[in-house]
Amino acid sequence: MKILSVNAGSSSLKFQAYEMPEEKVLISGVFERIGINNSFYTIKINGEKIKTETVLNNHEDAVKILAQELIKNNVVSDLKEIEGVGHRVVHGGEDYADSVIINDDVLNTIEELSDLAPLHNPANLIGIRAFMKEIPSATQVACFDTAFHQTINKERYLYALPNEWHDKYGVRKYGFHGMSHRYVSNKVSELIGKENSKIIVCHLGNGGSISAVKDGKCIDTSMGFTPNAGIVMGSRSGDIDYSIIPYIMKKTGMNIDDVDTTLNKKSGVLGISEVSSDFRDVEAKYDENDEKSIMAINLFVNSVVGYISKYYVELGGVDAIAFTAGVGENSDFVRKMILEKLECLGIKINEEVNRSMRLGKEGIISDDTSSVACYVIPTDEEVMIARDTYNLVK
Ligand code: ADP
Repeated sequence: MKILSVNAGSSSLKFQAYEMPEEKVLISGVFERIGINNSFYTIKINGEKIKTETVLNNHEDAVKILAQELIKNNVVSDLKEIEGVGHRVVHGGEDYADSVIINDDVLNTIEELSDLAPLHNPANLIGIRAFMKEIPSATQVACFDTAFHQTINKERYLYALPNEWHDKYGVRKYGFHGMSHRYVSNKVSELIGKENSKIIVCHLGNGGSISAVKDGKCIDTSMGFTPNAGIVMGSRSGDIDYSIIPYIMKKTGMNIDDVDTTLNKKSGVLGISEVSSDFRDVEAKYDENDEKSIMAINLFVNSVVGYISKYYVELGGVDAIAFTAGVGENSDFVRKMILEKLECLGIKINEEVNRSMRLGKEGIISDDTSSVACYVIPTDEEVMIARDTYNLVK
């Protein structure tokens, strides 16, 4: 069965076509700068990468071209062969603990939840509607970033705020990156060969989150009501004392939108290093002994170590810690700093193996004598979307 896995952003659309259940990638690509000038798309097929510049006024233009490319590249001879299209949707609120087949009710709920994810849900909806129009015969499926975290119990998802804020306005911890946390924790569970496993997943990308997973179910995660909470990120502050917000507004005259933008886009590793939100740039400056970059990486590492320690206790000890996403998969330097700070728990890194684990490699980076097995697992949110879609269509 042929399945498409789709991730639509406000100006981009990523896709992969799979033959399922074999999980064979048939073609993949990304449309960029949709609705902006100089739009283009890149297609990867048979190990070849082809970039084409074209006008993409909207997502419908992108999906039309995608459909033509599927036929042109002999992925399908008729679009009806695509039986399912799985869409990454950022916010599923308290309504969805699993991926679902999209109908009018689901569309309405995703729309209603746009208040909670104003940058993401509307873009996800535009993507869904474009595919409904172009491939009407396919079953459309929504795969929510929040769904995996719906197993977190109330003691851990509720903030100590007036109950009305939760009951009436949905203020609570939701958590994000769920498809990644689910993929990585499943994979580690398979690798350690234990059904009743306790795993901490560190998704360290430009955005980052950490989750505690017991017997395949998420029991806690570091992101909160929005993706701004938790660990220090590329350009997001992570956890802060909320009183900073009114204080800095009064002191500087900034309005709430300016402060929001600063916390989201100008803080984190970028804010402290004053170099970049890209860890590669900041690591390069760290190596040159740049004080601000050293401080930025140290703040980041401390925040990750803080959450790992918290989840170690919440889980009552752990079998494995896994690193994933851009930084987690590639930065042996950051992984080493984190794991060395956890030595008091009996965790021991194998430095040589750790150094070699990058660019899509998967494996164990802890020493044989380590109390906890530590892994690098390249994440694969796309295949998770394809699996859920296949299972629902089947
Ligand atoms: P997102 O999906 O949140 O945009 P990614 O998972 O793609 O993030 O991760 C992007 C981050 O990964 C960037 O900050 C980038 O610098 C970092 N990264 C990629 N390769 C390396 C590397 N070799 N060393 C350090 N950081 C890396």
